[in-house]
Amino acid sequence: MKLDWSKINIKLLGDIFFLTGAGLSMYYLINHILQDSMGDQSVKSKESRKKSQGVLKKITNKNPELKNLVLNEYEKSLLNSLITPDDINVDFNDVGGLTDVIDELQESVILPLTEPELFTAHQSLIQSPKGVLFYGPPGCGKTMLAKAIAKESGAYFLSIRMSTIMDKWYGESNKIVDAIFSLANKLQPCIIFIDEIDSFLRDRSSNDHEVSAMLKAEFMTLWDGLLSNGRIMVMGATNRQNDIDSAFMRRLPKQFSIGKPDASQRRSILSKILNDSKLSSDFDIDTIVNHTKGYSGSDLKELCREAALNSMRDFIKSNYAGGKKLNTNKPDVKPLKTSDFLKNLSGSMISSSID
Ligand code: ATP
Repeated sequence: MKLDWSKINIKLLGDIFFLTGAGLSMYYLINHILQDSMGDQSVKSKESRKKSQGVLKKITNKNPELKNLVLNEYEKSLLNSLITPDDINVDFNDVGGLTDVIDELQESVILPLTEPELFTAHQSLIQSPKGVLFYGPPGCGKTMLAKAIAKESGAYFLSIRMSTIMDKWYGESNKIVDAIFSLANKLQPCIIFIDEIDSFLRDRSSNDHEVSAMLKAEFMTLWDGLLSNGRIMVMGATNRQNDIDSAFMRRLPKQFSIGKPDASQRRSILSKILNDSKLSSDFDIDTIVNHTKGYSGSDLKELCREAALNSMRDFIKSNYAGGKKLNTNKPDVKPLKTSDFLKNLSGSMISSSID
C-alpha cells in the first residue's frame, strides 16, 4: 500500500513531536531534582550520625558510669541538639547587666541543684523548680542565661525547637517528646531548653489540632512525672509570654523578665563584650552608652563587631591591593576608638537622649 503524504496532518505530527520532547525533558528534570535531594539527604544524615556519635563519645568519656548507656533511635536523634557542659562557652561572668537575675538564679535554681545537703532540713519546702521561664524582647540574653545555668551547674543542655517536632507525623513527634524526657532522665543533671516555648505551649483553643493538643497533654504528663528532685529542669524562653496557656504557666513557677538594657546595663554589657579588645586612650564608653538607647545585648555585640571591622579597614586598605598582600608586615591591630563605634550608629540613635 502506498502512503499518501498529502493526507497526513502536519499539525498533528508537530504536536506529537512537541509532546514527546516535553515528556522527555520533564522526565530528566524530575530525575535530576530527585537525585540531588536524595544525595543531599544522605549527606546530611551521615553528617548528623557522625555528630551524634561524637556527642555520645564525649558523654561516656566524661561519665565512665554511663559507658553502658543504651539509647533508642529517637534519643540518639536528639544527641545533635545536646551540648555537654564542657562545650558550653558562656558562664555568669559573660552576662552583663543582669546581676539581680543571676543572684536569684544562684539561690533558687543552682544551689538546690549543686548543694542539695544545704536544703535537706527543709526538703519539703525548698526544692529546685521544675520549670523556669525567661521572657522579653529578642537578643537580650535569655538563651545565654539558660546556657550559663547549665555551665554553672554542670548540667547537660538539651536545646529543643518545638516547631521542628510539631512538623513531624503524630507517631514520630510523640516518640520524640517521650525521648526528650527519657534522654534527660538518663543523663541528669540536664536542662531541657525550649526556645520559642509559646509556639508549643500556646493557649489551647477549640480550633487547636487534636493531634497537637494530645502532644501537649503528653508533654505535661511527662513533665509532672519528673522524679529527679530538680536534676532535670524545663527552661523556656519566649518573646510572647501572654500567649502561653495558664496550665503551662503554673508549671513554670520561676519567671524572669529580661528586658532591653538601660544605660548602666548597656555599660556592663559593653564592658563584657570588649573585655579582650585593645581600646584606644580616647575610647569613651559613656558616649557609646548614651548613643545606644533601645539597643539589645545582641545589637551591642554587632556594634562592637562592626567597630572592630572599621578599625581594620584602614590597615587592609594600605596593605592589600586586589586581594594581594603588598608587604610582609605583621598586622598592626589598631586599638578601638570611639569613632569606630559611632560610624555605625544610625542618625536617629546618635541624636537619642540619655536614659
Ligand atoms: P531570642 O529571643 O532572639 O532567642 P535571646 O534573648 O535568647 O534572643 P541571646 O541569644 O541570649 O538572646 O543573645 C544573643 C547574643 O547577644 C548573645 O550570644 C550575646 O553575645 C549577646 N548578649 C545578649 N544579652 C547579653 C548580655 N546581657 N550580656 C552579654 N551579652 C549579651
